[in-house]
Amino acid sequence: MADKKPIDDKVKGKSIAVLTSGGDAPGMNAAVRAVVRAGIGKGFKMIGVYRGYNGLLNGDVKELKLRSVSDIIGRGGTILYTARSEEYKTPEGIMKAAEFCRSLNIVGLVVIGGDGSFRGARALAAQGIPCVGIPGTIDNDIACTDYTVGFDTAMNTALDMIDRIRDTAQSHDRCSVIEVMGRHCGDIALQTGIAVGATAIIVPEVPYNIEEDVIARIYEQKATGKKHFIVVVAEGVGKKGHGNIADSLANYIEKRTGIETRATILGHVQRGGCPTLRDRVMATAMGVAAVDILYDSIDSKEQVSRVVASRGGKIVDFDITEALDMQNDFDKHLYDVALRVSI
Ligand code: ATP
Repeated sequence: MADKKPIDDKVKGKSIAVLTSGGDAPGMNAAVRAVVRAGIGKGFKMIGVYRGYNGLLNGDVKELKLRSVSDIIGRGGTILYTARSEEYKTPEGIMKAAEFCRSLNIVGLVVIGGDGSFRGARALAAQGIPCVGIPGTIDNDIACTDYTVGFDTAMNTALDMIDRIRDTAQSHDRCSVIEVMGRHCGDIALQTGIAVGATAIIVPEVPYNIEEDVIARIYEQKATGKKHFIVVVAEGVGKKGHGNIADSLANYIEKRTGIETRATILGHVQRGGCPTLRDRVMATAMGVAAVDILYDSIDSKEQVSRVVASRGGKIVDFDITEALDMQNDFDKHLYDVALRVSI
């Protein structure tokens, strides 16, 4: 088997480690599997690091063989667990982690997570441990990439949930305000809003006026015979007054229109579940690309601090600093498309 017989001398006795960090996302397991299989295929010893960067501080690691990652491609969550580590962020924590990597002959680390996790990877790379990030977050909020692992599953889960809410809103001639995840990024709200035929979609990237963008649209649609309404709002939209954004919008809509209005916060249901085909395929392609970058950088004198990305349907990579400096591009065209059909 490939994990018993190194393919070339370049990788002999060398290890690659993999960890998941920050919020979990469906498809992280598919990425772990791809990294492990591609790494073993190249002849590396593969090491799983548990609970994010904490595992490098606590020595919580285990060798992962080909069959260690069997049957995980379709599983939600992460078999490596994930965490946020304050200790790791300190200079002492990063030095300790780098020392630990050296003690295990780890010549590269793959970090599956979000922007914060990539900052952690860059800090470790500065200590001489080559690091490659894979964007893993449901939020799709990483500027350098069109796509983050977990986004597609989260959107489809939200879609399924909103379809169900729509059935009951329709039966009762109600308005439903649904808050979806995405923090400061409105992509989940925009795409699910379009897919469920929302009357209004409210995202952090586009300033909104509740009278014009919500109330007036409800009245216009009511005048043409519509009796139930869906408003999708991203969690990162700043709320006015007390409580959460969904409740405050629902209260306002009910008061202004007299239409019975309910608020639903979808919450963590969007983070769980079996990854979709797209997440599994993207995670696999990105995992293999990450291993290739580390393989190519063996014995490099340069600091290796890269992040894998998907741009225009192609897998590419960027320096982490360059990637972190990019600005997230909201799809204003798609937002206008939504406005044109929700009339
Ligand atoms: P999500 O998008 O789900 O929040 P994330 O990767 O952005 O994921 P963070 O909590 O920001 O999540 O970061 C995860 C971990 O990465 C932190 O707990 C910390 O251990 C490490 N980290 C974050 N920022 C830095 C930094 N500036 N230097 C070193 N390590 C960092």
